[in-house]
Amino acid sequence: METLSFREDIHPSDWSDWRWQLGRSALRRDRLARILGEEAVAGPVWEDLLRQYPCRITPYYMSLLRPGDAGDPLARQVIPDPRELEGRSGEDPDPLDEEKHMPVAGLIRRYGNRCLLLAADRCALHCRHCNRKRLWRRPASGSRRPRLRRALEWIARTPAIREVILSGGDPLTRDDGELDWLLGSLRAIPHVEVLRLGSRVPVVLPMRITEDLCRILQQHRPLWLNTQFNHPLEITEESAAACDRILTRGIPVSSQSVLLKGVNDRYEVLRDLFQGLQSIAVRPYYLFQCDAVTGTGHFRTSPAAGLEIMERLWKNLSGLCLPRYVQDLPGEGGKILLHRAPVGMSPDP
Ligand SMILES: *Cc1c(COP(=O)(O)O)cnc(C)c1O
Ligand code: SF4
Repeated sequence: METLSFREDIHPSDWSDWRWQLGRSALRRDRLARILGEEAVAGPVWEDLLRQYPCRITPYYMSLLRPGDAGDPLARQVIPDPRELEGRSGEDPDPLDEEKHMPVAGLIRRYGNRCLLLAADRCALHCRHCNRKRLWRRPASGSRRPRLRRALEWIARTPAIREVILSGGDPLTRDDGELDWLLGSLRAIPHVEVLRLGSRVPVVLPMRITEDLCRILQQHRPLWLNTQFNHPLEITEESAAACDRILTRGIPVSSQSVLLKGVNDRYEVLRDLFQGLQSIAVRPYYLFQCDAVTGTGHFRTSPAAGLEIMERLWKNLSGLCLPRYVQDLPGEGGKILLHRAPVGMSPDP
């Protein structure tokens, strides 16, 4: 079995090269067999699983996994699971109805004053709980620029839009020049006041956050970066340093975590996650109830379980570590607050 502590065998200049990391993140069945063992990935179900939902793990994130620990909360987020092929009632490949809310291709508008641009068609790593996993197999289109130009034109003629979120896919998988062009084009639209990047890259590919990239991002402020930390073990020296490089350029970093069964659905884990984020100056922004995406049922907790944890967090944590616990509803429903603090609570003794 291939060891996961392979980091020593890799040249440091390769390791710190984000393109090298990205180039090695797609894992076919034979690679997975060497990592997990042949029996673990045998059978036709694995062929189906990897065809439908391909596996991507950056070597960096792979080095954080703990082989032999069946309950490893990081492995659970990235190792494919045959239960992803089970559909449950109430599930939908697109539970937020994003496809029905695209005034132009690749631009989602579910709120009056902000919109979300699908600015990249790949991710550094595939989170098995992803709510856009329906898009993983979409072929990389050669016509990306024309599509983005049409989206930019739509934003330019829609003055109600004051904030644009770049998402995807992961926008930070695109190269510096493309990002500079896209952010600059948005900045040139007078009514677009604020830009936001939604990216898991600081957590799963921290070497992508180069000084060159940060210099470009700095030029396009006010810019917010929203990332996704789901477990305290993801707060490493590397990911903390990546966040710090962004923060020191005057770009606030926040995190939207997803409540995931077997990953972070315990008070102690979320307490350590949110306090850990505060200690690296990353603001916990949202805690999402896991959306009813087809094939993610094994990740979903009941809202009641989330509320119970939230109640204890609310009593005991600094306000700066407390995200809002929300559920996203289809279309214009938007995000609704699941937890509201009752009046007059006293802290745990
Ligand atoms: C979540 C989301 C937003 C942003 O919502 P905030 O509450 O401002 O974080 C905007 N557009 C779409 C399509 C979204 O899904
Ligand atoms: S980085 Fe975001 S879009 Fe990409 S797989 Fe993870 S959750 Fe989905």
